[in-house]
Amino acid sequence: MVSTTGPAARVLPKIDLYSDTVTRPTSGMRRAIAEAEVGNEQAEEDPTVNRLQDMVANLLGKERAVFLPSGTMCNEIAYRVWCDHGDEIILDETAHALHFESGGPGALAGAMTRTISGARGIFDGSAVDAVIRLKTRHAPRQKLISIENTANLGGGAIWPMETVESVVGAADRHGLKLHIDGARLLNAVVASGIPARDFSARCDSVWIDLSKGLGCPVGAVLAGSDAFIEDAWRFKHQFGGAMRQAGIIAAAGVYALEHHVDRLADDHTHARRLADGIADVKGIRVNPNEVETNMVYFDVSGTGVTGAEFSRRLLSEHEVRIGAMGPHLMRAVTHLDVGHPEIELAVAAVRAVAAEV
Ligand SMILES: *Cc1c(COP(=O)(O)O)cnc(C)c1O
Repeated sequence: MVSTTGPAARVLPKIDLYSDTVTRPTSGMRRAIAEAEVGNEQAEEDPTVNRLQDMVANLLGKERAVFLPSGTMCNEIAYRVWCDHGDEIILDETAHALHFESGGPGALAGAMTRTISGARGIFDGSAVDAVIRLKTRHAPRQKLISIENTANLGGGAIWPMETVESVVGAADRHGLKLHIDGARLLNAVVASGIPARDFSARCDSVWIDLSKGLGCPVGAVLAGSDAFIEDAWRFKHQFGGAMRQAGIIAAAGVYALEHHVDRLADDHTHARRLADGIADVKGIRVNPNEVETNMVYFDVSGTGVTGAEFSRRLLSEHEVRIGAMGPHLMRAVTHLDVGHPEIELAVAAVRAVAAEV
């Protein structure tokens, strides 16, 4: 990904479709932050953090939740709770935890990873059956299935409910825990109309990110049973994620859950419009029907330049930032700082760059 390999942007682009993490807090959110009641979070005395945790536990249908600084820490703490050294996590080969968390599952939980080649990041129970090991002392102990909804490298694809249920069935058959990386679960909820708690009903741990489409500056919330969250607290301290007057940032999360969920539908409309607007461009391959939420992946191999070069031209000539995800693969992500006019400008910019190269 460009964020991890390329130079930081010195001048912020006018239209930034690099990620939904680039949003700035709105004035309403900044007001909520300024007025937040605060206390000592790690003593569970911060009223705003407590409120946010209750809201998310309720949203996800879990007993309890814990506020954390990042989604990465949610994944890594859950893996640490569920796995001992040498245990195995089953996940899709495109999983965020596998590619973008600096080896966290190995470094922090000491866990092995066993990958499944899903379709757009999604796999079913029979694919889990196919990687189940004999329970001998020679084999790693398989502990956990980890799924990602929406699937980021899967193009923002939504897990169909029956596919989630078939993985739940496999977890039951094989005595495995189920974890949902729900960095963008609310995108799946808004696009599908399926309540969040239905997606998470039969999983053991689940989290949502506040700093993606919800537009907060910081934070994520991990949920599960009371016992799971008690264990998670231990590792929150151990990993350095226990905070103090964290209500300052949690207030943004409360605000976002109240004001920024339904509007995710706009991001989905914008992503679809972007895909439709560039679908007929010579040299670009994109399938608008695969745009289910707020991401548009498109391939520029037919233009004769690399994704990195295409990205560079978009930025320098049009002040539009779209990241390169591979040699020819690009990813645009819509969010609350880009409206309809910006999307039309981005469409025009992609068309102009494709025409000149
Ligand atoms: C962004 C992301 C994460 C990590 O969340 P951070 O808040 O950036 O640490 C994990 N999983 C998925 C699918 C993501 O998109």
